[in-house]
Amino acid sequence: MAQSIDCLIIGHNQMKFCDYEGMVGSMGKESEPYQDLNLNFVRYNSEAITAAETFNTFYKRAGNNKDIINLGELFSATIAYLGTYIKRRGFTFDYVNSFQDEKEELAKKLRENNVLTIAITTTLYVSSYPISEIISFVRQYNTTAKIIVGGPFVSTNARTQNEVTMEYILCSLDADFYINSSQGEFALVQIINAVKNGLQFNQISNIYFKQKSGYIRNNIEIENNILAENMVDWSLFGDRVGRFATIRTAISCPFSCSFCGFPQHAGKYQTVDVETIEKEWRALDSIGTVKSIYIIDDTFNVPRDRFKDILKMMIKNRFSFKWHSYFRCQFADEEIISLMKESGCEGVFLGIESGSQEILNNMSKASTIEKYREGMKLLREYGIIINASFIIGFPGETYKTVQETVRFIEDTRPDFYRAQLWYCEPITPIWKEKEKYGIKGSQFKWSHKTMDSKTGSKLVNEVFLSVKNSIWMPQYNFDSASIFPLMQNGININQIKEFMSCFQEGIAEKLKSPNQKNISLELEKRMEAVFKAAK
Ligand code: SF4
Repeated sequence: MAQSIDCLIIGHNQMKFCDYEGMVGSMGKESEPYQDLNLNFVRYNSEAITAAETFNTFYKRAGNNKDIINLGELFSATIAYLGTYIKRRGFTFDYVNSFQDEKEELAKKLRENNVLTIAITTTLYVSSYPISEIISFVRQYNTTAKIIVGGPFVSTNARTQNEVTMEYILCSLDADFYINSSQGEFALVQIINAVKNGLQFNQISNIYFKQKSGYIRNNIEIENNILAENMVDWSLFGDRVGRFATIRTAISCPFSCSFCGFPQHAGKYQTVDVETIEKEWRALDSIGTVKSIYIIDDTFNVPRDRFKDILKMMIKNRFSFKWHSYFRCQFADEEIISLMKESGCEGVFLGIESGSQEILNNMSKASTIEKYREGMKLLREYGIIINASFIIGFPGETYKTVQETVRFIEDTRPDFYRAQLWYCEPITPIWKEKEKYGIKGSQFKWSHKTMDSKTGSKLVNEVFLSVKNSIWMPQYNFDSASIFPLMQNGININQIKEFMSCFQEGIAEKLKSPNQKNISLELEKRMEAVFKAAK
């Protein structure tokens, strides 16, 4: 029987990597964006494949008939949050968690139900292609539902593009509504209500809506939805949540690192109290399937006392899931790390950013190299997997400070690391000091008094080739969060490290021989051996 769905939410569309590589490659193989991407894939049978695709390829070559990494298995925090929010306001919703994995199901929902609106989330998109692919697909099966696009893709473009370019982006995607807000759920519900009840759209803040003459942009007004009042109702998703879920317990960030624009567009910092978190996590645990949660707060361990209380709450409840998160390691001490271990922490992602104190100061990181070293030492002692991230080329960076970063990585030996070229965003605090540092250009094309983006890009490659005591962690389509599903699938951390070392060597082969069509036979054999050993 046809159902009435007020809002059908469509989750992430993982674009085919080789298409994306082709798109970025069209900017030039020496361009900074391509050089950045180049450290994320190897070539196999002449095709560009990511670490996740490489894992799956060799897993199947070892005689298995399904993928070992399925990104669609990670249940989206955005869907859980938006679905709950919509339902609590009296509307019906349905969803597909992963567009690529659930196309057939989506087509069926669109064909057989009365769908009033479609909400497309855009958390991880760097281009409009995945959104236009979803819109074209939807239009094949349903021409009446109103399409609403929200999330960071819209708010970032609204912030960084001029009016003409913005209008071009909106028209080329051709959705019915766009929501321009760091939150946006209030606007979403107002659109659903207006469509359902035949109301006007011009009173709804933070939206663009389509008219014959083009898109009308309504006034901007900061949404301030209270996370604690909108915690996820997991009973709405119990039948479809698998082993992995993403969760958040805070919005925005209390810090203001000068390279980061996140606090500016995420809005006011707010945290959820421990009792409310406990209630939500008990409900999640009672589903009975979840084995690992990814806490996506940007600074889960701040404030410190709240973090300790959460850890004690987890220990008391003996949840059946393990967890991993971002972590500010200057706030680590032995008591905290031991509580983390006891509560089931599998790993942490550290935004270290630089091994040079001078650059950390320029970044307003409010930390010291010494604090980082102490925190990482404790994490290692307690067997918590560390993935550390670094930025190369920030204002003040020189060849010498990059060498300090290399030395820091070699000394502290994080299990995995990644170094990336500084991305210069005019919304970030450093922009206010552009005269002081002589910053010119933006995004991946910049120069300042001590470096330019071409040199920075070369130095990233140099870091990649010189670090020996840590394994390169790519970013596209596979990152530190991908390790834990692999462990749940029976691959232990040493096997994962061996595989990722091979992947890293595959990238290094490509850097040395750019026309190489395939990773070497020796690497293929070593990758296969990982899965033989895992049997
Ligand atoms: S880098 Fe992390 S800690 Fe710093 S401002 Fe951005 S989100 Fe906050």
